[in-house]
Amino acid sequence: PTREEVTYFGAGPALLPTEVLKTAAEALLNYNDTGLGIAEHSHRSELATNIINNAKADLASYLDVPDDYEIMFMQGGGSGGFFATACNLVGIWVHRRKQKILSELGIVDGKEIPEDQLLKELQKAVDEELKIDYLVTGSWSLKASQEAVRMLGSEHVNIAADSRTVNDGKFGKIPEESSWKLSKNSAMIYFCDNETVDGVEFPAFPEALKPAGDDGPIVVADMSSNILSRRIPVKNFSVIFFGAQKNLGSTGITVVIIKKSLLPPAVATPPPTLLRKLGLPVGPTILSYETIAKNNSLYNTLSIFDVYIAGQVLKSLLATYPDKVDGQQAVSEKKAKAIYGALEAHPESYKIVPEKSVRSRMNICFRVTHHANIDESEKLFLKGAVENGLTGLKGHRSVGGIRASNYNSIPIAGAEKLAAYIESFAKTPR
Ligand code: PLP
Repeated sequence: PTREEVTYFGAGPALLPTEVLKTAAEALLNYNDTGLGIAEHSHRSELATNIINNAKADLASYLDVPDDYEIMFMQGGGSGGFFATACNLVGIWVHRRKQKILSELGIVDGKEIPEDQLLKELQKAVDEELKIDYLVTGSWSLKASQEAVRMLGSEHVNIAADSRTVNDGKFGKIPEESSWKLSKNSAMIYFCDNETVDGVEFPAFPEALKPAGDDGPIVVADMSSNILSRRIPVKNFSVIFFGAQKNLGSTGITVVIIKKSLLPPAVATPPPTLLRKLGLPVGPTILSYETIAKNNSLYNTLSIFDVYIAGQVLKSLLATYPDKVDGQQAVSEKKAKAIYGALEAHPESYKIVPEKSVRSRMNICFRVTHHANIDESEKLFLKGAVENGLTGLKGHRSVGGIRASNYNSIPIAGAEKLAAYIESFAKTPR
């Protein structure tokens, strides 16, 4: 089939706009009449810097990212972000804790620091107080918390909430905020805004994580699978990160939006010697927020091609939606409503997996109960879907079922086509 004949609901990477790909195909051969393709130009060239700066400016404009935030392009995927968030935020916690000890000891600038005493106090603080908190609401936040345990040891990782404890051992709900067990002065509180595998999305920024901003907790969110699909209160977050490959661009870059007060000159990552003495991990330089920020994302060779694609997608979003992300949000909601509506209209044929209040607009997870044998039902459902040009609907291998990933690249007509198919399948003889 041609691109036009297929509506692809795969969970990622997602489809890219055809026009963007056509422009990119030319740029791969000869970018701006330079005789060199975009993937062949030096990442140190002015041209590369322009691509980065334009993409940053357009992302900031589309999402209304305030000036006191930095935008960075990194590598290592969303999964690299699991390590990067924990490692960088622990470093910042140590830096701040050290400053506090120094001020308690009455050490002012210029006075010699009593190294042994400082180290002893800092070690005590690390042993007794250092915690990072995770809200485990699905398989990606679970993975992130496991990476933190691998890196730091379980004594420093606090699972503040785990959806499985309130939902028979499965994901699909978000525990009541009043039940969250958040640590005091946590190095970060981490959550995944949209759980791609389990179809669970936070309906809004959690009340329990307010007051937001400089006086509030350090809140870090993985938005790999719902970024650019709704307005986000950026000010409430210390760090937002996301892989580009679902709603922004091609696979290969991870975007980090970070509050500048977490970067130099406001804070400095503790030196590796100090971290080692404290028994804390020293991360790779390429995952250091400080290093990447200092180099405007060009510490090492970055895939400028991927940044270019992201930039082109942002340009097309800005041209399509005069009210920026609010426009896309309205479309995302309309598409999700069409699909959920069709499923809800036939409760005998479909069971939506997550609880209604936390259903994802992006990854719509359901079981097909039309025939007594669910496996058989789902096989038939998928077969008919493919025959209708609706592909990529098989659920994640860890949970089974059906998953319709309703990313920005799915047009309203595509979502309506799926809704119509859901309706028609429910009317087939049982
Ligand atoms: N976080 C979320 C929410 C995801 O959906 C994914 C991948 O699907 C990841 C993280 C991991 O991203 P990557 O495969 O780029 O490491």
